[in-house]
Amino acid sequence: MSTDVVATIDRLRATFDSGRTADLGWRKRQLQGVIDLVRENEQQLSDALAADLGKPAFDTWLTELNLVKDEAAHALKHLGGWSRKTKRSVPLVAQPAKAWTEPQPLGTVLIIAPWNYPLQLLLAPAVAALAAGNAVVLKPSELAPATSAAVAELVPKYLDTDAVAVVEGGVPETTELLAEAWDHILYTGSTRVGQVVMEAAAKHLTPVTLELGGKSPTIIAADANLAVAARRVAWAKILNAGQTCIAPDYLLVEQSVSDEFARLVVDELAGFRDQAPATSIVNEHHLERLEGLLDGHGGEELLPRKTDRDTRVMAPVVVRSPDPASPVMQEEIFGPILPFIEVASVDEAIAFIKARPRPLALYLFTSSKTTERQVLDQTHAGSVCINHLVYQAAVTDLPFGGIGPSGMGAYHGKAGFDTFSHTKSVLKRPTWTDPGFAYPPYTDQIQKVLKFLTRW
Ligand code: NAD
Repeated sequence: MSTDVVATIDRLRATFDSGRTADLGWRKRQLQGVIDLVRENEQQLSDALAADLGKPAFDTWLTELNLVKDEAAHALKHLGGWSRKTKRSVPLVAQPAKAWTEPQPLGTVLIIAPWNYPLQLLLAPAVAALAAGNAVVLKPSELAPATSAAVAELVPKYLDTDAVAVVEGGVPETTELLAEAWDHILYTGSTRVGQVVMEAAAKHLTPVTLELGGKSPTIIAADANLAVAARRVAWAKILNAGQTCIAPDYLLVEQSVSDEFARLVVDELAGFRDQAPATSIVNEHHLERLEGLLDGHGGEELLPRKTDRDTRVMAPVVVRSPDPASPVMQEEIFGPILPFIEVASVDEAIAFIKARPRPLALYLFTSSKTTERQVLDQTHAGSVCINHLVYQAAVTDLPFGGIGPSGMGAYHGKAGFDTFSHTKSVLKRPTWTDPGFAYPPYTDQIQKVLKFLTRW
């Protein structure tokens, strides 16, 4: 690793050890710094995201800047309460005593972000780590170079440079960072690299939060409001050109409404395609990967393929009844392709989901509370959104994370504060009393009294 990076990490560790970052005033100043950073540099950041992903400015505001601002504002508001001691009860055998837990910052932590929401997925975890009082190294994605450069330029202007550092770079730099002994690592990206991160962390027994991907299903029950469902599904699929970890990957539609829903969703997608500015596919490699997914799916394509190779804007494609064994139904799509699968019933949709790896998100459109309960009870997913999509990630008070291959641990709001804090247990006993019967040899009488008092 470069001597600069080694010196940076040493500086951060020394700052943490000095106790500066644990101070609540310091934490609040950093959180305000994050808010000021995104607010005062909206144009620069928006331009960077447009350069990296062709992202329309309002999409950047909605899904990156405003989300980071909300996270930081929520943490600022609740920090006092989150940091308080919590009293715990003490059993008779340990009395007299006081017991409590108190959160303590972990130390110097590493946050590694992907390219698809390159600002939000770097700064929202940073908010959690700073609220909890840690020193932080931020590693932006090299596949979003303009955003990475903007963050590297702006972070030192708004945050304490002795406690927060940006280290830019790709796989070699990340590999070197991962060799260090961190106090926590939060990684967002693919499941494959998640395994690499966890393996590196295991060497130091460093705890990890892994925010990974997968295929998030959407169930359309026959009793759903089909018109609203179609518009919402189409919106969530074209958002960021489908390059969203919690995008609806594929649809499971009840047969009795499948023709009608196919027509509706195709109309909505065509409308968005023709009227709204679209985000680009991040690079040529991913464009070719997506085109590869359209080969040999064995289904029927309901919208014409259309790709502008210069801008890398890819029009949405619906694939009706693909072969479940084909790549489009085996790999995470991460692009504007929407497989459409008919199922005889919600029971069959549940069986389909349960036969596959546990997803990051699950979506359900229904007007039945019974169906809602059935799906919640019988499936596993990192999060569920009923009758809409994606918005669960915008609710700061809801923990955000996966389960099984879609990730471990969570952040956003208090969940993020807890992720980056150690819950320290403390028991304090007085010395004004120290009766001899508490020590061996225990008389028969003492044993009887104690067993009686503890209702043994
Ligand atoms: P990416 O290629 O930008 O990689 C993410 C980070 O990992 C980058 O900072 C990169 O430098 C680093 N990296 C890549 N390969 C590495 C290696 N071999 N060793 C060490 N570090 C390495 O992003 P990506 O992985 O293509 O991101 C897309 C994936 O992320 C999708 O699967 C998506 O579902 C998932 N994702 C999950 C969430 C979530 O919150 N759960 C959010 C966004 C994306």
